[in-house]
Amino acid sequence: MKFKLLNKDGKARRGEITCAHGKIQTPAFMPVGTVATVKALKSCDVKESGAEIILGNVYHLMLRPGSELIEQLGGLHKFMNWNAPILTDSGGFQVMSLSKIRKISDEGVEFSSHLDGTKYFLTPERSVEIQHQLGSDITMVLDECVQFPASYEQAKEAMERSNIWAHRCKDLFKKREGYGIFGIMQGSVFPDLRKSSAEKLIEIGFDGYAIGGLAVGEKQEEMFAVLDYAADFLPEEKPRYLMGVGKPSDIIGAVARGVDMFDCVIPTRSGRTGQGFTWDGTVNIRNAKFRNDSKPLDEKCCCYACQNHSRAYLHHLVKANEILGAMLLSQHNIYFYQDLMREIRLSIEEGRFEEFRAGNITTDHQLPTTD
Ligand SMILES: [Zn+2]
Repeated sequence: MKFKLLNKDGKARRGEITCAHGKIQTPAFMPVGTVATVKALKSCDVKESGAEIILGNVYHLMLRPGSELIEQLGGLHKFMNWNAPILTDSGGFQVMSLSKIRKISDEGVEFSSHLDGTKYFLTPERSVEIQHQLGSDITMVLDECVQFPASYEQAKEAMERSNIWAHRCKDLFKKREGYGIFGIMQGSVFPDLRKSSAEKLIEIGFDGYAIGGLAVGEKQEEMFAVLDYAADFLPEEKPRYLMGVGKPSDIIGAVARGVDMFDCVIPTRSGRTGQGFTWDGTVNIRNAKFRNDSKPLDEKCCCYACQNHSRAYLHHLVKANEILGAMLLSQHNIYFYQDLMREIRLSIEEGRFEEFRAGNITTDHQLPTTD
């Protein structure tokens, strides 16, 4: 796996990642393909949005249908018919947030499936093995993500354990042309912990570095305050990935602080609840004012939904609980997010990112804070 830094505008970075399954222009947004599907979208729709990489979840795929089965069927790319790069998360975050019983030790984490209660033991080694079976272009190390807020002691203990796990993941990762492994920085909101986490990860040596432990319930300004210093601890010549972020204004603000990659369920989850993103802010298509509105959801958008359907039709579908409503809104939202990234990249290339940021900082002003 290779990363080329093409351009800088302030701290904002324009780059290109080359993986076994293709190239990714950065800053990049990765739609979330949780259980081998970006919810409500066919893989050709995801491709058409311009997305060059998607994310898969180890936790969900190890429970169902199982990584051994996916490997037998030719790997995750073939299984879901996605012929471009895939990044898989390590399972750590979902184990902490979804599974029922969990016991964390230095060895790994024991948990019960939220589906049927079956017990599993996930170790750093097992997580890397699963990601290898899936055929991920980018493997993530297993980490312990603490909740927000965390005490200094909790954050320190989780950070130190995460660094030991990161070492074990790197040791087991099979180096192959076009495939890479990312370390994950922890340390909550404590600068000295963030710094020590970054230093340890850099010493181990990774193909990219994620900033973990954010987007876990803190306010946007608290997240930005961490990014203000944490991104600077990471090496210039490797990609930086902010996990689980976010709303359009989160992404724009993080790009301004030197982040290259993002993933989030917001565009698809919002699409399933009648929320649409537009350049004029977020709209709730259930609103009665759209009942007889013949305009497209976003007049500037070139997606299938906006090119072929009116707000009135989308309003009707969502009100009637029709599956097509969720499909069209998800398709639009994924397309909007890729449009946002295209505009961000162009503005960095043309040296006018700050101008772009000033003009679009309120893009998601109407979005509810809970998703
Ligand atoms: Zn659209």
